[in-house]
Order: sequence, then structure tokens, then C-alpha cells
Amino acid sequence: MILGFLKERRRQRLRAQLFPENWLDPIKRNVAFFPRLSANDRAELLRHIQVFLAEKRFEGCGGLELTDEIRVTIAAQACLLLLHRETDYFPRLLTILVYPSAYMVDERRPVDEHVWEEGTTTRLGETGRRLGSMVLSWDAAKSGAADPSDGKNVVFHEFAHQLDYENYAADGVPGLVTREEQVSWLEVMRTEFASLRAADETGIPTLLDTYGATNPAEFFAVSTEAFFERPRALRARHPKLYVELQRYFRQDPAGYSAERIQVSPVSATDEHRQISGCD
Ligand SMILES: [Zn+2]
Repeated sequence: MILGFLKERRRQRLRAQLFPENWLDPIKRNVAFFPRLSANDRAELLRHIQVFLAEKRFEGCGGLELTDEIRVTIAAQACLLLLHRETDYFPRLLTILVYPSAYMVDERRPVDEHVWEEGTTTRLGETGRRLGSMVLSWDAAKSGAADPSDGKNVVFHEFAHQLDYENYAADGVPGLVTREEQVSWLEVMRTEFASLRAADETGIPTLLDTYGATNPAEFFAVSTEAFFERPRALRARHPKLYVELQRYFRQDPAGYSAERIQVSPVSATDEHRQISGCD
């Protein structure tokens, strides 16, 4: 209780500090959604970034030398997910490891029920419930910030997993406030997940990346990417899913998104499936 009080007081102090000019420049340069936010939201985002950067440890990997540009560009995207609601700033995450670009990992993959294959895959990011850490490729984090409407954003994806972990399970259900919200969330997500699975199996083009058909946790992460990057398309094609995400994130990205309305359906590529891996 007292610890919580001290932590909150420290965070209040951090949020009240003047935002450093040398942090603001790279945000303006790299983060395309930033100028599209309302003045209030921009101010709130910057306050969250102050806390985030004071509390999270960054490490450069694979020869990457960490800079303020890297830290703030990642922080700005992560903190967009925190606007308008009470937050504990991704409490299970302590360290963010940043590689210069896609990195290689050894992996065992199930081929079918009884057979596994081993191989090396490339990844852009990953995180896990028990790890306390996240790995990101700087290339991908930077290009995700630069293109706010291609539907892909590795930072949104991995930090959505962290939101999912807040209530201790990697089950695609973040911390929802009321019982009503939980019931509604589960019902909508179950239906939407099933229809993505069916589309993936039959090869029907989908707006949501079919990597989301892997399990409910990936479904939430992929939906979060679409919510912030393709909000108008998502609202048009998956109105119930959009409403659930809108209620949880307490935001309406359709109002500020740089997304252009697409007439033709967008087919998901297999690219993301190969390069994204989690837990
Ligand atoms: Zn994932």
C-alpha cells in the first residue's frame, strides 16, 4: 500500500517534469501518428513517456548502440496503448533488448502432432509472460512508427502481449474493468478468432494478419495492430471487434488515423507469420 503510494508519487513527479527537447525531436521526426493526435493526447503521451523511460531498462544487442532516438521512438509507440485509462506501465516488463534489425533464433516448431522440426528463424520482436523482457528490432520499430497505416507494428504487437499479461494469463484478455466488459469481450473475441481461423484454413483474404489465428493471445496482439493502423477498415469489416477494442483502449483511432480507405480487400501475407514469434 505504502509502496504503491510512493510509486505513484514518483510517477507524478516524472509526469510533471518538462519534456526534454532532445527527446521531442526524434518523436516528431519518427512517429507519424504523433502530430495527428489532439493536443491533450500529445501532452498525455509525453507524460507517459517520462515514466516509461524512467522505469524500463533498455539494452542494445548485436552491436547496437542505444540512443535517445531509439528509446523515445519505442516508448512513444508503447505509450500510445496507455492513453485515457489508469495504467501501471506494463508492470511485468523490466528490460527491452534492442537489436539493429531482424535477429536469428533457433526454434522448434511442431510440424504435426508428433513431429517437430528444428531450424533457425528470423524475428522482429518477441516477449513472454515469465521473461520480464522484450526483444525488438530497431529497424522494424522505426519503420512501424514511420508508416502508421500499413497494418503492421511490432511495438504495438509486443506491448499488446504485455497488456494481456497484466491479469496474469496470456489468454488474449487484458485487464478489463467490469464483469460486463469481460463477458462482452469474450463473446466477441471468440467469434472473431473462430472466423479468422476459418479464413486462414480456407485461404480467404483477411484484413487481420492470419498470424492472429495461432491462438487468442496472438489474436489480441494482431487486432491491436489493426486497431491502431487500419482502424477505419477494421471498423467497417469487424464493427464488434472495433467496439471492444475502442472500449478497452478508450480511444477512437479512426478519428486521427492516417489510413486511407481501401476499396479492395487486403490479403494478409505470410511474411509476418515467419518473422514474428512470441513466448
Ligand atoms: Zn505475438
